[in-house]
Amino acid sequence: MLSKFRSRTIKQHFLIWSVTIIVIFGLFINAAFYWIYTNNIHEEVNEQLAEKLTLQSLYINRWLDERSADIYQMSRKQDVKEVNIDHMQNDFVTFINNQSEFGDLGFVNTDGDILVSAMRPQMRMNVKNQAFFEQAIQGKMYISKVVFPRITGDPIIVFSSPVYNVDNELQGLIYGSVKLGTISRTVQSVHFGRAGEQYLIDGSGMLITEARLDMQKVYGRDKIDTEILQRALADSNEDTIYTNYRGEEVIGSYQWTKDRRWIIVAELKTSEVFAARSNIMWVFVLITLCILVASLYGIVLVTRRVERPLEFLLQGTKVLKEGHYDYRIDPSVFKHAPVELKELCDTFNMMSLKLKSTVRLLEDYALIDALTELHNRRYLAQEGSKIIEKCIETQQPCAIMMIDVDYFKKVNDTYGHQVGDRVLLHIAKILKLQTRQTDLVARYGGEEFTVLAQQTDLEQAILIGDAIRKEIENKPYIEEELHIPLTASVGIALLPFVAEADLTVDTRLSSLAEAADRALYRAKQGGRNRIETNTDWIPA
Ligand code: GH3
Ligand code: MG
Ligand code: MG
Repeated sequence: MLSKFRSRTIKQHFLIWSVTIIVIFGLFINAAFYWIYTNNIHEEVNEQLAEKLTLQSLYINRWLDERSADIYQMSRKQDVKEVNIDHMQNDFVTFINNQSEFGDLGFVNTDGDILVSAMRPQMRMNVKNQAFFEQAIQGKMYISKVVFPRITGDPIIVFSSPVYNVDNELQGLIYGSVKLGTISRTVQSVHFGRAGEQYLIDGSGMLITEARLDMQKVYGRDKIDTEILQRALADSNEDTIYTNYRGEEVIGSYQWTKDRRWIIVAELKTSEVFAARSNIMWVFVLITLCILVASLYGIVLVTRRVERPLEFLLQGTKVLKEGHYDYRIDPSVFKHAPVELKELCDTFNMMSLKLKSTVRLLEDYALIDALTELHNRRYLAQEGSKIIEKCIETQQPCAIMMIDVDYFKKVNDTYGHQVGDRVLLHIAKILKLQTRQTDLVARYGGEEFTVLAQQTDLEQAILIGDAIRKEIENKPYIEEELHIPLTASVGIALLPFVAEADLTVDTRLSSLAEAADRALYRAKQGGRNRIETNTDWIPA
């Protein structure tokens, strides 16, 4: 399995690498984009939210100031200062009719009794225990917390202001209950994005803007206790994503209104903020896939241009291994291959050419006798067999001659081995000159030579053999003052045409040589420097 994994083709290597690189690169780009995009958008959203909140808190603060001012103005009216109950009643009703945000306007004396109420003139109630009474008695302007009157359910706050007469003596207080509808509507009317939301809560998490909403029923709790409230209470600057009271993932921001009265919260759903992000991510994935497919296609194309030539090269080396040294690769296969492979193909072809000539040279050397430059015994065996085969086929006579220099040992002994070598070369030259082109002349071994003469009958063979013998006798070896007379004995055998079924061509040749050898032996026995023939050839 492991070896299979290791022995991959070029194409597989390319494919594995490019897929890995492109996938890693794609992932990296996507991750980088995701990070940068998310951070940028988050920052942008935070800025937007902060801007909206600043505007809203300015509006709310001004609204509170204006309502405080309204009450203050009323407390400074002449009728109020003089605690003129009847006039007050009329003034208050007129005021409320003009100021729709006020739910009621009333006067309370220093004992805490409501003496005047614009909306409920008959109401007689003591408010001694109320915070707004206590504050006013101490001479302070006051704005109450949000209250949810059981009757309407609409949230209100109560503004109050102490009332003094002309002598600056406390006469009581004037109070005005103000409906928060306008504030709620204003805050809620600010929309940003499709899912942006703004709302107002107080420090305890009570939702002011959507007071009619039954929190308990819808969300299972009375108050908002989300992350944003914690952040507001801790004045934290954190801006991470959290879950809002509706259970949605949001980016949110808060701002306290004046005197830490309320918290305005602005939230934007992440699903909307980052809606484009997943689209862009998909585009990235798509682009990565396109690059992947394109590069895979490219790799297949490129490797095809490499693979096919390589197959041919491989094939070439295999053929060469088999011993066909002159094998050439067709260069047209490499037409579209890369330059390096073209060069490789040319080099291969040159190499095979060189190999062929070198091997031929080596083969030739292996078949030639180094001293005499005649063919050697191996060549005789190779070529001689072919000649004999041809002779048998064509029923042509064929003769073999064994020529052995007489008393050659003496030459060596007398003049030395090197002179002996030169004498052998001299003999070889005579043999070459005295034989025909078609005769195969070889050094059989030592000072013994062979002539295989095709299309030669006994008569012709004796003529040639004798010519050789005579030439050797007549041409002594002469070298400076050296004068070495030489003779040689010749044994001749003739190839019988009887096709012996059980004889191979090789054994015929060696049997023929042996027959000639026996004739040579007789020539030696008969006194040397003579020819003997052996026609009664018997296969071994
Ligand atoms: P014969 O007439 O019976 O053939 O006698 P001869 O001395 O020629 O025969 P023998 O077989 O006794 O000796 C052959 C000698 O030839 C022995 C050997 O030293 C010599 N010889 C063989 N090959 C070479 C060679 O390559 N160079 C030289 N210089 N001498 C060789
Ligand atoms: Mg000999
Ligand atoms: Mg000899």
